[in-house]
Amino acid sequence: MQKIIITAALTGGIATRDHSPYIPYTPEEIAEEVYRCYQAGASIVHIHARDPETGRPTWRSELYREYDRLIREKCDIIINHSTTGAIGLTHEQRLAAITEATPDMASLNMGDVNAIYFDPKTNKRIEAYFSNPFSAIEKYYKTMVNRGIKPELEIYDVGMIYKVKLMIDLGIFKPPLHCQFVLGLHGEGMPATPRNLINMLDNFRELLPPSCTWSACAVGRHEFPIITLAMILGGHVRVGLEDNLYLAKGVLAKSNADLVAKVVRIANELGYDIATPSEARKILTIT
Ligand code: ZN
Repeated sequence: MQKIIITAALTGGIATRDHSPYIPYTPEEIAEEVYRCYQAGASIVHIHARDPETGRPTWRSELYREYDRLIREKCDIIINHSTTGAIGLTHEQRLAAITEATPDMASLNMGDVNAIYFDPKTNKRIEAYFSNPFSAIEKYYKTMVNRGIKPELEIYDVGMIYKVKLMIDLGIFKPPLHCQFVLGLHGEGMPATPRNLINMLDNFRELLPPSCTWSACAVGRHEFPIITLAMILGGHVRVGLEDNLYLAKGVLAKSNADLVAKVVRIANELGYDIATPSEARKILTIT
């Protein structure tokens, strides 16, 4: 049986210490948090940049370069930068995460994302809209491939898998491709239910070549039920404070590593082995 790759999604582009005091902000905090996740069993780390002073999501490329440098001093974990970044960025600002830094991998949204969040202090609605037309998807993909960066195709609904197939048919995308299913985003995509994950997987298997790989994650309290099902269905998984702040009901995770350790415990109980970063590089064809 294939070993399971665990991605730790450290920070995300929304939550701050108003939501959880355990979100890392500075490059040093982020690198230390990555190392804890690596020791707990993560082989990929997915990062959105944070302003070291305010903790607000940002796109400053020198921060991404500093993360890469500090993380690589500590371990060989696969570094995955977000190209979603933060609310309100231009495509040029979002591209800086891959043009001005040297990640192994980067996320690529396979369509517009139109979600909402609520500010925990004011309970005001925050709109999280990210525009991703075909031309932008093509530009992100080509920029990644030209720089030796493995794209991680972020898939929020079945239509986005159909879009991946179209991009392959157009000769733009070249398999093997890696897809990250994201379920349960507020107001976007598909609710985080077993039926929807299985539906995603049915379409993935029907539409994409067998060389393609997949991983699943889910937002909030759905995180662990969905990733457990994903492991049973033969997929890889993602956890982290980007998706879920809680280790258990009412108990905040004090580190992303707590969430990674919980996946490892579940996987071990089910008899599954966890991939090391070098094994994950082979599975995902990252050179
Ligand atoms: Zn992300």
